[in-house]
Amino acid sequence: MDLESARARLIRQLAHEIKDKKVLDVMGRVPRELFVPLSSQHAAYENVPLPIDMGQTISQPLIVGVMTEALDLKGNEKVLEVGTGSGYQAAILAELARKVVSVERHRKLAEGARKVLSLLGYRNIEIHIAGEKIGWEKEALYDAIIVTAGAPSVPQDLVDQLAIGGRLVIPVGTPFEQDLIKVVRRKDGMEHINLGPCRFVPLIGEGGWKRE
Ligand code: SAH
Repeated sequence: MDLESARARLIRQLAHEIKDKKVLDVMGRVPRELFVPLSSQHAAYENVPLPIDMGQTISQPLIVGVMTEALDLKGNEKVLEVGTGSGYQAAILAELARKVVSVERHRKLAEGARKVLSLLGYRNIEIHIAGEKIGWEKEALYDAIIVTAGAPSVPQDLVDQLAIGGRLVIPVGTPFEQDLIKVVRRKDGMEHINLGPCRFVPLIGEGGWKRE
């Protein structure tokens, strides 16, 4: 099957679970094959995670859709992503928000993502090499935060980078399996919603796990 038909089939599958038309539309446009290694480009529109460099993975399209939908983006937001990886999720976010700040701890992945994102013409994405502290405090507060690696708990330092009314989506659990948690920061406290099971590579460092 050619990539074009595979992409159309994937979007039809995702439409069973993702109700936000804008999210489906963007996932139908961003070329996922450019974010995976050449050797797996033929599988770019299978609904599966795929290996990328440094032992990491590009998330399964369904989970990209679920997480993006949960952020409730209207178009004017500043969004933080923790875990740039291939840069695919950052591209999806950049289509739906005003600005994306994405941090990655592996320099090689950050550089690869910068390259493909600039090739595709994105001007509203900043990619930084992660520092000691989780997130990217310099540009806080964020209207939405997405963490694409699994954490042992919701890191308070990230909640502190979230604006009032902001949404944080993060996998929380063991290094092997997690639940996708949506946290909404309200004036008078936090609301937690469990969006169901998921499986991510571990978040490493402050707020995450000690080593890979
Ligand atoms: N969103 C990515 C998926 C990335 S996989 C995509 O669309 O392709 C998760 C990424 O999180 C890995 O690249 C890993 O190196 C990175 N990561 C793990 N801990 C991190 C941390 N504390 N800060 C920033 N990035 C981190």
